[in-house]
Amino acid sequence: MTVLETIQRSAEFLTRKGVESPRLNAELLLARVLSLPRMRLYLEFERPLAAAETDLMREWVKRRGLREPLQHILGGSNFCGFEFRVDSRVLVPRPETELLAEAAWQYLNSREGEPVVLDYGTGSGCLAVTLALKAPKCRVLAIDVSPDALEVARGNAQVHKVDGRISFILSDRLVAVTPGAKLDLIVGNPPYIATEEVSRLEPEVRLFDPLLALNGGIDGLDHYRFLAAEAGGWLSESGKVMLEIGDGQEIAVRELLEKQNWIVEAEIKDYNQRPRIIVACQR
Ligand code: GLN
Repeated sequence: MTVLETIQRSAEFLTRKGVESPRLNAELLLARVLSLPRMRLYLEFERPLAAAETDLMREWVKRRGLREPLQHILGGSNFCGFEFRVDSRVLVPRPETELLAEAAWQYLNSREGEPVVLDYGTGSGCLAVTLALKAPKCRVLAIDVSPDALEVARGNAQVHKVDGRISFILSDRLVAVTPGAKLDLIVGNPPYIATEEVSRLEPEVRLFDPLLALNGGIDGLDHYRFLAAEAGGWLSESGKVMLEIGDGQEIAVRELLEKQNWIVEAEIKDYNQRPRIIVACQR
């Protein structure tokens, strides 16, 4: 089979399996099998595949057809231009979270001295590591309730050589973080799916992202409720929180924060023009 035939057949198979963007998925998988940049495939449409290449491609397309995320098959995910290793121990980083990262590093870089930021539920470490890279003076506390996730995050910090500036802390919510830590910023993309809705998510998410990284309690708002009530005790006087929220949660989250004496300073919209990041400080 040639490159072009392989792409076409794989894309047809993935279409039948309900995969979104089947052609793009087929191309990205084949590009990796052949160790080529994706665009080079277009110059090599007539190239025949070797048997080993066909076998590997078949195996990967089959996995993708079972709705395993592309990032798990390829072993990594790009976040803010950096490569992160991901597997089923952590949530696959999402593009909207890049908006949170950008707002956070801009804020950290505007602070004097060595600001301290806490990443609430670090997962793959995509936020913690990106902030350490983009805000070279900050120190990062990366917390997670999952020891498995912390292992992934630590590995990603080592790859990017910022493990010396990140403390990884196994913590259920903030219990293991010293109260009065005087953080300049708490960032987080907490689990925000309502428990009942988890079973209705796409298979890539429902079957392959850890439930712990998704489930935000009965109404999905458990972590915002907790942070609204408690996070103030860990912040410095001018400290802020920047939180990603689920689609449609802005009014509820704003209300929770305002009830606990927070001022919502900004809402950042995602690529679909929906409010996704809430920035708040203490009154
Ligand atoms: N902080 C990680 C991310 O944004 C993990 C978030 C989570 O597991 N809910 O991707």
